[in-house]
Amino acid sequence: MTQLLPPDPAGLARAVALLRAGELVAFPTETVYGLGGDATNDRAVAAIFDAKGRPRFNPLIAHVADPDQAGRLAVFDDRARALAAAFWPGPLTLVLPLRADAGLSPLVTADLPTVAVRMPAHPVARALLAAFGGPLAAPSANPSGRVSPTRADHVMAGLAGRIAAVVEGGPCAVGVESTILALDGPPRLLRPGGLPVEALETVLRAPVATAADPARPQAPGQLASHYAPGAAVRLGVTAPAAGEVWLGFGPCPGAALNLSPAGDPVQAAANLFHMLRQADALAGPGGTIAVAPVPETGLGRAINDRLRRAAAPRP
Ligand code: AMP
Ligand code: MG
Repeated sequence: MTQLLPPDPAGLARAVALLRAGELVAFPTETVYGLGGDATNDRAVAAIFDAKGRPRFNPLIAHVADPDQAGRLAVFDDRARALAAAFWPGPLTLVLPLRADAGLSPLVTADLPTVAVRMPAHPVARALLAAFGGPLAAPSANPSGRVSPTRADHVMAGLAGRIAAVVEGGPCAVGVESTILALDGPPRLLRPGGLPVEALETVLRAPVATAADPARPQAPGQLASHYAPGAAVRLGVTAPAAGEVWLGFGPCPGAALNLSPAGDPVQAAANLFHMLRQADALAGPGGTIAVAPVPETGLGRAINDRLRRAAAPRP
C-alpha cells in the first residue's frame, strides 16, 4: 500500500522516517515529481531502479537542501558557484567532479567520477530535504519509458504498490525536467530543460556546447570513464576455473564474493559496484573475475547490462 502524505509537518516527518529506513518516497519538485531514496544507502538506490523497472544503471541526480550540502558531494569551481548563486534553487542540474568523501552510493553516479546535483525550488521538496538532512537520489517518479509525472495522482497511477509513499504537493509549475549542464570540462549541455541555455551562457559569459559530438558521447552509460575492472571478466560462470575469482549470485559454494546469496536482485544491485572493485583487487593484474549467471528479469537486466560492459573488450 502506497501512502499519500499531506505536505504538513506530520506528513513530512512520516516521509523522513520512511526515507531513513531506506524506503522510497515520491515528492513534488518544481519540474516533475521525483522518486526519492537516501542517496547514501545502496539498498535504497537499488530499490529506485527496481521500482521504476529501469533496464540500466544510468546515473541519478542527487537533490540537496542547500549549496553547502552540494559542496559536500561535488567540487565547485568559480563557474559552478556562479551558476548556483544565480539559479539555485531552481531547475538547473550541475554535473561536477565527485568528492572522494561524498559518501554517496556508487549506484547514484553509476560509478562515474562525476555527480549530478540540484537544489530544487518547490517548497515541499525544500522542506523535505531540510528535514531529511542529507542528499536524496531522485529520478522522475514514473515507470521507465513512461511520461514524467507532474501530479501526485500520476505517480500513484504508475507506482502505487511499488513505493512506500507520495508526498502531495499539487501540480508541478515547470512541468519539464531540469536543464543538465556538465562542468567537468568546457560547459556542455547534457539535457535541455526548465532553464534556457541562454541564461547559462549569460552567467558563464561563454558559449555552452549543445550539439551531440560523437567524440564526447552524452549517454553516461557509454562513457569510457565508467569504472572498468583491470582483471578480465567472464560471465555466466557456474564452475569457475582454478585461480579465477568467483563472484556469485544465489547459492555458489566457495565463491570469493556473492552479490546475493539469496538470489535477490535488489541486494545484488546494491552490492554490484562495491563487489566488482573488491573482486578486481582479489584477482589482481592478469587475473579473471568469473561471474555467476544473473537472471535477465527485473533488476537483473540492469545488472547484466553493467556486467556486459565490464566484460567487453577494452582498448
Ligand atoms: P532523471 O533522473 O531521469 O531526471 O535523469 C537524470 C539525468 O542526469 C540523466 O539523463 C543522466 O544521464 C544525467 N546524469 C546524472 N548524473 C550524471 C553524471 N554524473 N554525468 C552525466 N550525466 C549525468
Ligand atoms: Mg525520467
